[in-house]
Amino acid sequence: MITVFPDPYPDELLYSVCARYQERMMWGNQKTTLEDLFGSNTVVAVVDLPGHVDALISHLPAGHRYSSDEIIDRHTLLPYFSPFLAASQLEGVRLAMRRGSGSGISGRAGIMASTVKTPQVLQYCPQCVEADRTAYGEAYWHRVHQLPGLTVCPHHSGTSIYPSQVAIHSSGRRQGFDILEATTPEAYKEPVLYPGANAQPDLNTFVAHQSWGLLSQSRVAVGLDALRQRYMEQLQNRDLANTNGRIRAREFVQQFEQFYGRDWLRAMGCGLTEDGEQAWVLRMVRHPKGSQHPFKHLLLTHFLGMTMDALLEPKRPSLRLNRLWPCLNRVAVHYGQPLISEAQTQLRQTSGGKVGVFTCSCGFSYRCAIGEDPYLEAKVVQFGPIWEAKLKKLSEDATVSLRGAARILGVDPATVKYHATRLQLGRWQRPLSPGKTPQQGSIEDYRQHWLDVQAQYPEMGRTALRQMAPAVWSWLYCHDREWLMAHQPSAAPTLRPERISRVDWTQRDRDCAAQVPAIVTRLKQQEDPIVRVTAKAIFRELGHSSWLERHHDKLPLTIQTIAEVVEDRIAFALRRLDIVATDFWRTGRTPNPWELLRSAGIRTDLARLSEIQNTAARLCDPVVAITYADS
Ligand SMILES: [Zn+2]
Ligand SMILES: [Zn+2]
Repeated sequence: MITVFPDPYPDELLYSVCARYQERMMWGNQKTTLEDLFGSNTVVAVVDLPGHVDALISHLPAGHRYSSDEIIDRHTLLPYFSPFLAASQLEGVRLAMRRGSGSGISGRAGIMASTVKTPQVLQYCPQCVEADRTAYGEAYWHRVHQLPGLTVCPHHSGTSIYPSQVAIHSSGRRQGFDILEATTPEAYKEPVLYPGANAQPDLNTFVAHQSWGLLSQSRVAVGLDALRQRYMEQLQNRDLANTNGRIRAREFVQQFEQFYGRDWLRAMGCGLTEDGEQAWVLRMVRHPKGSQHPFKHLLLTHFLGMTMDALLEPKRPSLRLNRLWPCLNRVAVHYGQPLISEAQTQLRQTSGGKVGVFTCSCGFSYRCAIGEDPYLEAKVVQFGPIWEAKLKKLSEDATVSLRGAARILGVDPATVKYHATRLQLGRWQRPLSPGKTPQQGSIEDYRQHWLDVQAQYPEMGRTALRQMAPAVWSWLYCHDREWLMAHQPSAAPTLRPERISRVDWTQRDRDCAAQVPAIVTRLKQQEDPIVRVTAKAIFRELGHSSWLERHHDKLPLTIQTIAEVVEDRIAFALRRLDIVATDFWRTGRTPNPWELLRSAGIRTDLARLSEIQNTAARLCDPVVAITYADS
């Protein structure tokens, strides 16, 4: 047990307290200090997440007022990380800090695995130094000044943070204890700067204040899933995700990169597309596996115009419900039963009143305005494990078709495909479309993707192909240039002007126009998925679609024929209703109108039209079904 212990100052690093103890005792080497404070001279001095805290507490002078948790929460960097760790992870880190050795803790918190650039030396604010000297007679190392990306002091607006001479090992270790007072004479040289940091004064202030907010918070963690949902809401408000939670990944990544600048993101170790993996912003808003560095959360909240307070707000106030709401999980045995007694309010309001998120104990949740009919207006937020398990089972049953599965699951086929792709079920997965980046792609994926695009557009030249799949092209250009050069069309366009001029356009126009009726019939026969008859679809069937489209002024007859047969949205919706209703009847069941509308994937704006409603009602009339069964 020791007889004196320097009282930790506000926001002082535990490391700094130990350094001041060593200074006060005038111990020449840190081994004695460590022996005094921790009862062992093999303890390592760690700046961010130190261990042996229980041992320290047991060596403090009799009558001290400190607890391990208090030391951890007020004098280490754990509160900065804690909101972004899974509950079990956080518990493990805290336990390791209390009883563990202090090595390997940052690995446990996922910090080691992170690429985020952290300060290589201890840092300080000159104004805090002055203020602390006035208040306490000495300066000390603050926690907040050691956080990644920090360039200004949150307590002294506009004052730059300065690096000291005290280097930190990348694992957060430091050989020996150094007090701030011993290093300041060297100081006041060059402030901490990151490339382009000065160009973003807003961002500097934001990072400083939000980082400080994280350190000084003592909230109960809301959980990674809640964070993901809050991000999703903001993405939806910005039209970067649709109401079903489908993310417009390319736009999102592009806007994010433009917002911060690619160079700056790279300099901070937060580049989006560095290793060909799925961009971290996407990992963060999809189903987060493993935790992400707090600094990345800071960047995403700033981009989305949120604050940490809004993101970490303990729990949304519940909507007061005057009745129980039904579970809409079509594969649950309790489907349709009034089971949900509580809903969380959303920020948005609609004409139907306040919007709530209704979550059933089966994991299924949907969003709906309080004044609207959930059977008609609800948007699924999350399908949950039971639904996903059913989807997986259906995908393994070869006798079930895509639309059969969609009907059983209560969604449209596109949604089945989306989740089959997300869950990598092996069946019903969407093929990569040109222009999209393969996610978590290997070099083989990129190569295959590029070859696919070429096969799909054999008539295209280099530049046009590159425009069809810009992300894939640039990835290959960066990582696999030699192969790319060997696998692209020759520089000259395959259709040179003089050759085009020799095409007999009149004859070609007649040929194409003659093919249109057969193509339309073929398109309408496709049921899995149902295809809308559009000019683009017809051109695609005619072959050389982009080339023909480019020269459509030379094909007047074809264009006119196409104009007569294409379907508008309403016509297409009516045809879908018909096909899906027939499917229901085949199974001997007559659907409800809303069930039919939903299975056919009719959007809300269309479902309100009387033409659609009348057709749905007619198709759900048992008499119509009997007529079908007889015929
Ligand atoms: Zn300061
Ligand atoms: Zn349920």
